[in-house]
Amino acid sequence: MKAIYMDNSATTPVKQEVLEAMIPYFTTYYGNASSIHGFGQEAKAVLEASRETVAKTLNAPAECFYFTAGGSESDNWALKGVMRANKAKGKHLITSKVEHHAILHTCQALEKEGFEVTYLDVDEDGRIRLDELEAAIRPDTLLISIMFINNEIGTMMPIEEIGRIAKAHKILFHTDAVQAYGNIRIDVDALNIDMLSISAHKVYGPKGIGGLYIRKGIRIQNLIEGGAQERRRRAGTENIPGIVGFAKAAELAHADLEGHVARLSALRDRLVKGVMDSVPYAKYNGHPTLRHPGNVNIAFQYIEGEGLLLLLNAKGIQASSGSACTSGSLDPSHVLMSIGLSHEIAHGSLRLSLGDFNTEEEVDYTIEAVGEVVERLRAMSPLYDRVKGGN
Ligand SMILES: *Cc1c(COP(=O)(O)O)cnc(C)c1O
Repeated sequence: MKAIYMDNSATTPVKQEVLEAMIPYFTTYYGNASSIHGFGQEAKAVLEASRETVAKTLNAPAECFYFTAGGSESDNWALKGVMRANKAKGKHLITSKVEHHAILHTCQALEKEGFEVTYLDVDEDGRIRLDELEAAIRPDTLLISIMFINNEIGTMMPIEEIGRIAKAHKILFHTDAVQAYGNIRIDVDALNIDMLSISAHKVYGPKGIGGLYIRKGIRIQNLIEGGAQERRRRAGTENIPGIVGFAKAAELAHADLEGHVARLSALRDRLVKGVMDSVPYAKYNGHPTLRHPGNVNIAFQYIEGEGLLLLLNAKGIQASSGSACTSGSLDPSHVLMSIGLSHEIAHGSLRLSLGDFNTEEEVDYTIEAVGEVVERLRAMSPLYDRVKGGN
């Protein structure tokens, strides 16, 4: 049986071109970018060329882009770095209830340090309300951090409007753009974004490498102390093969971004229609149109997500229920709870996240498999039996 990978929001495979670009930097050009000798200078040159490549995809100057070990580190750095560096000016931060745990758990850590955090509610599609954002702003608010695209339900936040509000109030605006990057064109200037987190392994690059854009002039503390790498802001010998792979992945993602979005959304719409047309008592979660081109999140009544995942896995389909980080825990997803789903319905949710390697045949097979599996699970549910019986 062929494996069908529909968990691209958890991570993506590394593209062949990306891998090939990386290999020489493990074996031939393996110098430390801080070394004076020729090997070191070669590493330094490719490091700066890669920075230029990635920064360009954000319309950012290269010197404002810093490599990190991934999205989680970038989120930690942005929030802890800005709050700690500016605590004489304020102690308040605004975020949302549907952020990735890299943001939410960082906020909780900051609260233990004495900072204050407002967690905005979202509407039933998963978007914050702008009037509530405005109302939450205080004289001591330093930072607004709202994700670009949600990793569970795919909903896009009103980033342009948030940027405008932040700028009008002279508050810094950070966005976790890990899911958005490579799926929508991002211009940090046009959107008034002051800081932005991205990660390579969500765009067909390697794991363990990411980056943070920091607008020029922002006061931010270091998170990782040590050597003078990354203009003295992020210590540690640079992960040159990872950085080269990240740059290649960034380049490929932006060479035909519109084509990628068109292909992916066509597959997504086919999958959603197929499942929603054939399975009763199902709810399509997230915004109907303002969403990630590959994200499908559907909640099925009268079943458990774990059972669904196991039976789909037995049919070769790799999927997720809620976020990868929460699977294994019995708590329903904080995102699904925030959009107003009940515990039971949230538990019966399925996330299928499509990527560049999925095909129409895989989508059609999945539609059929989901229908069969849901029916099988419901056949075992006494509750569903009563619903069908009409009592
Ligand atoms: C995957 C993800 C992260 C974490 O990125 P890592 O590189 O895995 O640390 C953060 N935020 C969002 C929205 C994500 O999807």
